Amino acid sequence: MGISPEQLDFERIRGHVGHHVVAVTYGNPPVNATLECETCGMVLYSADPTTPAAQPATIWQFTLVQGGVVVQQVLAGEPLENEITNLAIVETAKALGIPLGELISDQHDAWSELLETVREHPDITVSLSLITVLQLEQKDATNGNAHRRQAGLRAAADRRRIRPRR
Ligand SMILES: [Zn+2]
Repeated sequence: MGISPEQLDFERIRGHVGHHVVAVTYGNPPVNATLECETCGMVLYSADPTTPAAQPATIWQFTLVQGGVVVQQVLAGEPLENEITNLAIVETAKALGIPLGELISDQHDAWSELLETVREHPDITVSLSLITVLQLEQKDATNGNAHRRQAGLRAAADRRRIRPRR
């Protein structure tokens, strides 16, 4: 398995002076990277890539099911309540065959009325709700890459330091 960077101390490095030390990755895509001394056939340091953590996110979800088929599935960030409610009103009215001009102008009332009308149509189901999902954050993935790049640079620097003198 190799050892941690803290354990890659002076004595251990000095023990491989003049040896052939290489950096190797395993797997495609790589799931493990190591610094190895080929002369000793020994893994000096082993590291696994960091995977981005899934973050909980609260989002709006609008679903329109018609005849048992999901015909609309819209997700929107929490601040977009007005926008997704408008979208839900327009799409639900369309599914029910109600002209938009016949809707109440107040958004909240219009949606409530549409929900009541939908209940009379067993073939149509709509829902608009705040849900919590786990999301792989792009930001974290980037950090992870930066981390990996740094680790790679450190590994390269380590490799230079322990490169055999010729
Ligand atoms: Zn060695």
